This record gives sequence, structure tokens and C-alpha cells, in this order.
Amino acid sequence: MKRWIRPLLLACLAASLHGASQTQHILFVMTDGLRWQEVFAGSDPLLLEKGQTAAGREALMPFLWSVVAKQGQIFGNRNAGSDAYVTNRFHFSYPGYSETLCGFADPRVASNDKIPNPNVTVFEWLHKKAAYQGQIAAFGAWDVFPFIFNAERAGFPVNAGYEPLTAIPSTPRLDLLNRMKAETPRVWEDEPFDFMAFHTALEYVKARKPKILYLSLGETDEWAHAGKYTEYLSAAHRADAYLRELWETLQSMPEYRGSTTLIFSPDHGRGEGVTEWKNHGEKVPDSKYIWMGFLGPDTAALGERTHVPAVTQDQIAATLAGFLGEDYRADVPRAGKPIADVLPH
Ligand SMILES: [Zn+2]
Repeated sequence: MKRWIRPLLLACLAASLHGASQTQHILFVMTDGLRWQEVFAGSDPLLLEKGQTAAGREALMPFLWSVVAKQGQIFGNRNAGSDAYVTNRFHFSYPGYSETLCGFADPRVASNDKIPNPNVTVFEWLHKKAAYQGQIAAFGAWDVFPFIFNAERAGFPVNAGYEPLTAIPSTPRLDLLNRMKAETPRVWEDEPFDFMAFHTALEYVKARKPKILYLSLGETDEWAHAGKYTEYLSAAHRADAYLRELWETLQSMPEYRGSTTLIFSPDHGRGEGVTEWKNHGEKVPDSKYIWMGFLGPDTAALGERTHVPAVTQDQIAATLAGFLGEDYRADVPRAGKPIADVLPH
């Protein structure tokens, strides 16, 4: 007996010295401009079409409420004393993604233009470490992602928009996805339907099993700008289903099972009321409010957080690194602090 007790004790001691983090893989999914109002209260009866029945939050986002909010944690229900907000003043996409991924708001990042990010994301920072070389991949519906990640400088694959995925050997499924990106009608010039980004990411995961996978979905924002509330709700429901499929796929793979942490958040919120729900930006103060969910082996199952200090978008990068046992702020002191409540003690 003594023979194994000793290594076990040493292993426990080593683990506790390193914060006992079990996370070795990160799945980070964002969905553009999905409001905290729908996430925490379901569909808004004032915005539904005539004769449409309201959907509660469990019906709208069943994976979020039956799994993430039971086994993990979710922040941002302002009606229950939990605020989550962006610290950038712009409240639109590029500044929000950049704040999330770099860990700070930069007033120079002030447009949605295709400008290579002057700042380094936490992914690029991790990718420089030997353990993460070739282990990171990002997928986005929106074609600005290669610029947000500064893919050329960062050195990991960033597949976005209508770009075919050619970084892995072709399969009949991937060939069809690439043809769909090229041949189906384009409702939005800068992004295809979320279906394309999601299934492209899924093919990549099966082929390459990266340690860190990022996926960004865009339909929640597009349908909201178009004022199509039913489509907006459908997109939110689909994002939740995609999250479940990714999570369950990863849990079915021995490489990922029990060692993967999921992070889920939007880039910004939207306004309140029958017109303003469509909009966001500097002139819509309510659009600074967001939400964030965490699920994984290191996150205590505290569920929907209520009456807790506010959390901010600039904390996500250092929290993501923290799950992997890495201290992002040692190199990037201006990044927001890790969210201690979701990390191992
Ligand atoms: Zn938008």
C-alpha cells in the first residue's frame, strides 16, 4: 500500500501548489449581441408577433439552463443582483471581442474595420508557449475574425466568413461545407449562417483535437439588427444546441473528457424596449450589459449567480488562462483580474 500512497500524496501536493486545475482544454463560444434579457427571462412578450407564445428561458436555451447553470456558473442576471458588463465605451463587436480576447479595452480599437489588432490576444500569448504550439484554432461566422486575432502574426488557424477550410485534409463533409460557403445565397456580405462556422469547427475538432477551440456565432446580432425577433430567438436556440453538440462531442472523446472547460458569452448587449432592442453602441447605454457562463472540472457548481460583485468582459482573458494554470496578468498587468469564483481555490 505504501508504494502508491506516497506518489499519490506527492501528486496531490503538486496539484494544490499549482491551484489544482484539472482543465487542459478550453472551448470558448461567443454569440454576437445576444441580450442578457432573453438569456435570463426567455422571450419578451412585448416583442413577439401576434399569436406567438412566449418561451421561458429553459425552452429558449435548454443546454444553458439544464447543464451550464446546474453544473457550472452563469453571471449577468441584473434582476437578481448580478451585473456583467463591457468596459469599452463602444458597445459594438470588434472592441468587444478585442476586450474579451486581450483582457483590456483599448480606445484605439474603435471600429469594425478589417484592421489587424495592434494588441495580442490571450490565444496568441498562449500559442507562444511550447505546450500550445499548433494546439489552438479559431472559427468565426464574421469575416473580421482573422483581423481581431491578427491571424498572420498569431500563427494559428483562424477560419471565418465564407472562407473555405483547407487547413485539414478534405472529407466529403468538409467539401460540401466549403461548396455551401461558395454557392449558397449570401444574406449578409460579411458572414454566412452560423451553421457554416459551427460545422466547420466541428470537422476541425475531429481531425486535429486542438487544446483550445474558439467559435463565434453571428446570427443573433444580424437578425436583431433586421428587427426579426423570431429569427433572433431561433438563432439563440440554435447557438444553445450547437453548444450542447460541441460539449457532448468533446465529452465523448477521451482526450477531452473531464479536462475541458467551456466559456460562453456575447461581445455586447443591446438596448431595451420595442425599438432599442435592435440596436447597440455608444448611444445605447444598456448595451454595455452582457452575461457569461462557465462549465468544467474546475468550476464549482454554484449555478445562476445572484447578489454577487459585478464581473467585466476584460476579466475573461485572465480567467481563461487561469483555468490552464497560467498567469496572464504577470505579462499583461492591464488585463482584468481572473474571476476567482469560477477557478479552483
Ligand atoms: Zn451589431
